[in-house]
Amino acid sequence: MFEQAIQNYLKEKGYNKINLKAVLFDMDGVLFDSMKNHAKAWNKAMAIYGMNLSEEEAYMHEGRTGASTINIVCMRERGYNADEEEIKKIYQTKSDIFNSLPKAEPMKGAYTLLRNIKESGLQPVLVTGSGQLSLLDNLNHHFPGIFQKEFMVTAFDVKYGKPNPEPYLMGLKKVGIAPNEAVVVENAPLGVKAGVAAGIFTIAVNTGPLPDSALLNEGANLLFRSMQELSEKWDLFREIINK
Ligand code: MG
Repeated sequence: MFEQAIQNYLKEKGYNKINLKAVLFDMDGVLFDSMKNHAKAWNKAMAIYGMNLSEEEAYMHEGRTGASTINIVCMRERGYNADEEEIKKIYQTKSDIFNSLPKAEPMKGAYTLLRNIKESGLQPVLVTGSGQLSLLDNLNHHFPGIFQKEFMVTAFDVKYGKPNPEPYLMGLKKVGIAPNEAVVVENAPLGVKAGVAAGIFTIAVNTGPLPDSALLNEGANLLFRSMQELSEKWDLFREIINK
């Protein structure tokens, strides 16, 4: 299964080898079990403004910037875009609801995988659409010694956000490597799309309620059912890459 996925990737992108130097991690739904809270917060916030955004649909938008999600929903529900001020208001409401929910736990298996990656000399990189101000503190609290500020891409760094390849290309740039020197770990369809569009081998972990096809149809090169499973199979994956 790994061999075939790697061969397909190399052939499609025209590389001879994956020469792994860094692993680019999405955050929500990958490192933290936080997507349930985001989906709930989106649903409730939009309802306050008289618009319908189901929790399941929120998973389909995962990875977009807040403004982009709000624009898509406003256009559909009302037929016109929100102006900048209203976008800010809606996003603030969503953030307030999110912050009022119980704090999300780290994803099971995530820290074991991160330590393994770091100890083997690979560079962990965070690539998230999140704009939480306390993000680095929170990461350091739950995953001490793993992430460094200079190897993080957040909402403050990007213009377009996922599914545009921009955030992942920026992640590569921060390390100074080519697409075939990294892999992406993503849980969201639009995040997978961004990783694939950046030319990077993209591993999907399906930690939410969407069918596997939602991730595979965006071009995921491999799919795992959990971070625990990815963590358990990581060494084998690396062995096959290095063959
Ligand atoms: Mg995610």
